[in-house]
Amino acid sequence: MQEHRLQQLHEDFKRCFEQEPSVCVRAPGRVNLIGEHTDYNDGFCLPMAIDKDVLIYAAPRDDDQVRVYSQQTEETAQFTLSNAIEKSEEVSWSDYIKGCAQILIEEGVSLKGCDLALTGNVPLGSGLSSSAALEVAVIHAFLQICDQSCADDKIAVLAQRAENNYVGMNCGILDQLSSACCQAGQAMLMDCRSLHLDQAPLPDSVSIVIADTGKRRGLVDSAYNERREQCEAGAAALGVSHLRDATMHGLYQAKQDGKIDALTLQRCEHIVAENGRTQAAAACLRANDMEALGQLMDQSHADLRDKFEVTCVELDDMVRIARSLPGCLGSRMTGAGFGGCTVSLVESNAVDEFVKALEDAYKKIHDLPVAVYVTGAAAGAGPISLASSVS
Ligand code: ADP
Ligand code: MG
Repeated sequence: MQEHRLQQLHEDFKRCFEQEPSVCVRAPGRVNLIGEHTDYNDGFCLPMAIDKDVLIYAAPRDDDQVRVYSQQTEETAQFTLSNAIEKSEEVSWSDYIKGCAQILIEEGVSLKGCDLALTGNVPLGSGLSSSAALEVAVIHAFLQICDQSCADDKIAVLAQRAENNYVGMNCGILDQLSSACCQAGQAMLMDCRSLHLDQAPLPDSVSIVIADTGKRRGLVDSAYNERREQCEAGAAALGVSHLRDATMHGLYQAKQDGKIDALTLQRCEHIVAENGRTQAAAACLRANDMEALGQLMDQSHADLRDKFEVTCVELDDMVRIARSLPGCLGSRMTGAGFGGCTVSLVESNAVDEFVKALEDAYKKIHDLPVAVYVTGAAAGAGPISLASSVS
């Protein structure tokens, strides 16, 4: 499968740029098992990289131009490397690439002009982080082209900065850190404050099932920013920098003292509980207690639906159906919410029937392009040797 994608991309690279690539890199999308909306609260997340990714071939040029071809958009973008790379008038896919170049230049990296061809099979805009996969892959490609290296967690921070400061999306560090740093066969407990990462192995007895509701996130930007503001207001009222440092007791006290209103309390309760659940979930993986992990996922979804209010009828239906099927230990929405995907923990010996039954039952109630897949825990981003990719 990957060989076929690489072969096609290699053909496209040669056709677009009339030269051979000298660099090949990949960066995966991610699914977050638990720990939702906690990243921008300096809290904990438990993602794993998925076996869908962005692949890039690249070669240097003799000038200061960057040309990029995307198989998904079938477009080629071109820009000049400078201290102020001009942004597109409306947000365009090429802004993610320009943003990465701009941030690297600001870091003092002497970028070289280059040609890039990219392809991705992370579905766009469904909450599996195609944007982070793109950014992390592009940074790897740019660095390789100018013979520079950088620690994986630093690459994640630069990729996040590109998305925050250049593209203008106010995302936390979860997506980029997952794509850059996850390891094969492992979920990763992430401390989004220290960027400390702890592996938590995924046993073969369970499978991770991603179900794309087919509902694209409509209100996500404004609602996401509103939730962030509510979390910030809660933290400020408690006198802490982030909700990571808040306790339930502190929240109830603040409500009693009139420092926060009922809605802010409700939002903050989810974050404080979710941070606890996420650390407990990593402990469940280490102790191989899959039933307890499933229960934590169920509780997470309930809070995201009732307290943080970022689900929608499609996500709630997908989770409800999943939980009614044999072998399902837990299920929740994953990503920012308002559409996108759910993630379910399913006994491996029941997973084939689960996938089919989930898809069939969901299709009966929603006329949307649903997609259900089982994913392994993939390795984080890195180079692919040209010898193995170009044959
Ligand atoms: P998500 O990260 O959840 O998939 P985002 O809205 O954050 O959703 O990012 C999706 C955007 O990332 C796309 O609209 C597109 O601009 C860009 N993108 C990601 N992968 C590719 C690709 N392979 N080709 C072109 N653009 C891509
Ligand atoms: Mg994204």
